[in-house]
Order: sequence, then C-alpha cells, then structure tokens
Amino acid sequence: MKTYSPTQISTFETCPRKYRFRYMDRIDTGVETIEAFMGKRVHEVLERLYRDLTLSRLNSLEELLHFYEERWRSLWHDGITIVRDRYREENYFETGKRCITDYYRRYYPFDQDRTIGLELRVKIPLTDGDPRYSMVGVIDRLSYAGNGVYEIHDYKTSTTLPDMAGIDQDRQLPLYQLAVEQMWRDVKEVRLVWHYLAFDKEIRANRTREDLGALKEEVIGLINRIEEEEEFRPVENPTCNWCEYRSLCPLWKHLYKVEGLEKGFGEEEGADLVNRYASLKKRLHEIEEEMKSLEKALLNYARKEGVEIIFGEGYKVRVKVDRVWRFPTKDKDPAGRRELEDWIKGIGRWEEVSYLNATTLDKILKEGRWDREELEGLKRFASPGERVSFYLSRTREE
Ligand code: SF4
Repeated sequence: MKTYSPTQISTFETCPRKYRFRYMDRIDTGVETIEAFMGKRVHEVLERLYRDLTLSRLNSLEELLHFYEERWRSLWHDGITIVRDRYREENYFETGKRCITDYYRRYYPFDQDRTIGLELRVKIPLTDGDPRYSMVGVIDRLSYAGNGVYEIHDYKTSTTLPDMAGIDQDRQLPLYQLAVEQMWRDVKEVRLVWHYLAFDKEIRANRTREDLGALKEEVIGLINRIEEEEEFRPVENPTCNWCEYRSLCPLWKHLYKVEGLEKGFGEEEGADLVNRYASLKKRLHEIEEEMKSLEKALLNYARKEGVEIIFGEGYKVRVKVDRVWRFPTKDKDPAGRRELEDWIKGIGRWEEVSYLNATTLDKILKEGRWDREELEGLKRFASPGERVSFYLSRTREE
C-alpha cells in the first residue's frame, strides 16, 4: 500500500505527469534547481542551530555562516540549474546567507520556546487506520511553548511571499497538526508558523476543528483521484521552467531535441512541419477574412440588384437569406437561458429539444463528477477512443 505526503499530493495537483516521473517511475535526472539547493542548505543550518541548542551549545552567527558556506561549496554539482538568467550563483548564495542572518538576529538567543523535534517524520492520521490513506510528513521544527501549546515551524526560502489567502490554502502545516494532536495527550493548542526567510517575515495561523475535518475530506478525495488516475497527463504550469523533468516531458522534450541540434530549427523534421503548418494557418486566416468581406459584398450586391443568384464565368452564387428566431445563449445571457429551459421543462417538452452531449459525458467520466456506481454504469456505454486536436500558438521568449 502506498504512503503519501503533502508534497506528493500537491505535485499531483499541479501536474500528474511530474507526479508519475517523480513518485512512480522514480526518475533521477540529476538536475536540481538552485532554489531547491539553496533551500536545503539553509534548512541544514537551522537544523544545526537547534540541534546544538538541545545540547546547550549556542552557535555564533559566524559559525553558522561558515557551516553554510562549507556545505554550499562541498555539495555544489554540475546538475544545478539557474533558470532566471539575470541571476548567478552568488546571488542565490547571498540570499541564503541573508535568510540565515536575519533569522539569527530576529530570534537570538532562541529562548522563545523549547524545540522537541527537528526534521521530524510524522504519521498523518486521515482516517481511523484505513491503510489506503496512509500519509507521512516531515516537520522542519516542532516546539513546545508550555501549557499544552505546540508550534509547528516551517522554513521557506521562496522569494515570493504569499498573502493570508495563500496561507489559508496551505495544506501541509494543518496536516502536520493532525499528526501532532495524535502524538501527545496534553495538546491544547497547535500554532502553525511559516517563516518566510527571504522577507524576514513570520506568519502565524490556527486551524479550527471544522477546517481540519474539511481538509481530511479534501485530501482523501485527492488520494482517490491519484489511485484512479490512468493517464497522468502533463499540465503546463508556471513551475515548468523549474521542473527537472522538462527534457523528458512530452510538452518540452522536442524543444530540447531541436536546441541540441547543430542546425537547430532549420533542418529538423518536426520543426519543419510546424513551420509549414503555421504558414498554411496564416494563409487560411487571410483567406477566411477575404471570404467574409466577399460574402458581405455579395449580399450587398444581391440586395441592391434585387437578385438571389449572381452569375460569374462558369460559376454562380446563390445568396439565400432565411429568417430565423434567436434565443438566449448560455454564454451571452445565462439567466435568460435558464428561464427558457425551465419554461420548456414546465410545459413537458424538454425531451423534444434536449440532446445528449457526448463531450459532457466524457468530462463527467474524466473528472469523476458522479458517484462511483453511476460512473461505473456510464462506463458500460463508453468505449475508448481518441480525439486529436492541434493548437497553434506563438512561443514566448523564455
Ligand atoms: S515540465 Fe511542466 S508539464 Fe512537464 S512534467 Fe514538468 S511540470 Fe509537468
């Protein structure tokens, strides 16, 4: 039976293919972003600080920065990537150093609480022992503030600071709260503390019983989705540039192939097909525009001359104008559309005008919108197939 972690769940939500690469295929590309590298080094320093404190040894800031530099230099490797080309290794090194320095100065002499766990692996109880929903996590630092108050500390080196709405959506620390509440009987309160080190900012929050109940349901639902997932499709998202699987990902690996070729985009078969496709699409668009204006001119001519057929050399065009009724549409007038549908249903004529929409059924199956039994019933009528679409767009400057 699989064991999940909050990181695994959020990876799946962001991109199922990345989840598959990392947690199912367990592919190690040897690539590491400099942001991840810097984060690990800063975490190591804070772990050392608090681990030594449990044995009454208070490191000086200089000692910690020396340790940081030593670890940075000895663990640096060729697989580290810097995505933002405006920045260099030194910029990240200095940012990590600043994170440590600010933290040290803010909390010195670190007597606000008593550390009771560092890099603490915990079991997260989502259910009363159902092995399908086994979950674990690692708490950066767990501290005890006295009187049954526990604090879960999480260190972030991200250079983006979330607002409270973002913090409220965080699942990781509230899931750890479930674990902490199960670990000790004297828990009266659990405080969640996010340290956004690059901003020297501490954010605190609490979760109610209702919040935690809803969170459990949500996570169980996500685990069910992972268990039922078959395709693990790649989903393009803002973190793609930092993804270690880009060179394997169906969305990006062709780019790696052509960029690696000596002649680049010039000679490669796929690139040539795209160039021809784009050029034809452009011509098609121009032709469509020209057709529209020609049709407008034909209509004007037919009206002016009072004719319905216009003759040319070897061809004729019939300009047929039919009177039609228009009704409110779902996108332009949703309220009017609803009213119309309710009225038709009310007079018992709905069967005559409604039709089964295969695209909606496909979506219901893919997103598992109905309950399990209904989905199984629907599947009896479905057979697997493919719908191929082509989307042409401009590539952005990376
Ligand atoms: S590059 Fe983007 S789409 Fe591809 S696996 Fe990574 S996150 Fe997913």
